[in-house]
Parts: sequence; C-alpha cells; structure tokens
Amino acid sequence: MTRKLAWIFDLDDTLHQATGHIFPHLNRSMTEYIMRHLDLEEAAASALRQRYWHAYGATLLGLMRHHDVDPHHFLWHTHQFPDLERTVVADAGLRHCLRRLAGRKILFSNSPAHYAQAVLDVLGIGDLFDAVYTIESTRFQPKPMAGGFRALLHRERLQAERSVLVEDSLPNLVTARRLGMKTVWITRDSRHPPWLDLKLSSVLALPRAVARVNG
Ligand SMILES: [Mg+2]
Repeated sequence: MTRKLAWIFDLDDTLHQATGHIFPHLNRSMTEYIMRHLDLEEAAASALRQRYWHAYGATLLGLMRHHDVDPHHFLWHTHQFPDLERTVVADAGLRHCLRRLAGRKILFSNSPAHYAQAVLDVLGIGDLFDAVYTIESTRFQPKPMAGGFRALLHRERLQAERSVLVEDSLPNLVTARRLGMKTVWITRDSRHPPWLDLKLSSVLALPRAVARVNG
C-alpha cells in the first residue's frame, strides 16, 4: 500500500496574497528597526536590509551574524500587523480546498510563529494543519537552506518521496526537489522547470490536480 502524501505548505503568496500589503509593510518595519537599533539613516538602513537579504536569504541572519541582534526581539518588533484582518485577503474557497486534500498537512514558513498563527487565524484554516514550522522551529535556518527541510521531515517522520512542497518560491522548491520531495509551484510565471511535478496559478486548483502529483 502506498502511503498518503503529506502536504507541506508555504504561507505567504501561497495560501494568501502577501505581495501587495504585507511585504511592503514588513520591509518598512525592518528598515525602521535597523535605523533604531543600529543608529543608521533610512537610506543606509534600507541598503543594509537588502544587502543581508541577498547575502543570507534573510535580513535577520545578517543582523544576527554581524550585529548580535536578538532574533526573537527582531521578529516580534518587525512582524506587527495591527490590521491583519483587512490586510490578509482570504479566499472563501481556501478552507474547502485544503479539506479536500487527503493526507497530513504541515505549514512551513520563513515567518515567525506569532505572525504565522495570526494569518492562519484570519484565514480560518489553523485547525487543518497537523504541525506548524516557522523560522524559530528551524533554528533560524530559513528556506531554501536544506537544514530546516531535513529537520521537518525527520521530526514528522516523513518520507521525502511521499511529501509535497507547495510553494511560490522557486529556490525553495529546488531544495525540496534535491531532497527527493515532490514539488508544486504556485505562480503565474511562464517558466516551467522540467523537474517540477506541477505548476498552478492558485492553490485552489490543487485538489483537482492531485492525480498529477500522486504518480
Ligand atoms: Mg512564499
């Protein structure tokens, strides 16, 4: 008997649209944090934020490595969204879509736990996940680093071959693929890497396309 697939979902820009409101707000918060704690002007703070993001895949990693910033303090103060209900655009079909997928569901996000939980609450889907992995649970090793993926698979006793990463970020899918996982890219990008199992413009189309992943 083949085991059911386990579904590993990214959060931002996979289960909801974060590009329009959440990410600009986040970038501003991070720049302000750097201005305040590293005593920099706005332009310098913004440049540093982007430099660390490019060098380490996360601004936080550069701040930890070079400025001894406390990750919990940084994540708490930069991920404050007082009007998340208005910012997060929930699709009415999302809950139904996730419920139609058989198998365990795990959230795997580079965001901090308090933010991920708040977004899940607004989306009304928190109870559908068997486990939630955030930047804290991977000891601040964000995707696409392989360490967090390996820890998740190990702790959840998942076979990589029977696990599917559903993601909007191609580099994160590359790592998943390298580890032997199946890959679903949520995107409107016109590229189609040959190794990809499935490409969809919205996660809502996943239940109908499941047979193409479960080969
Ligand atoms: Mg994402």
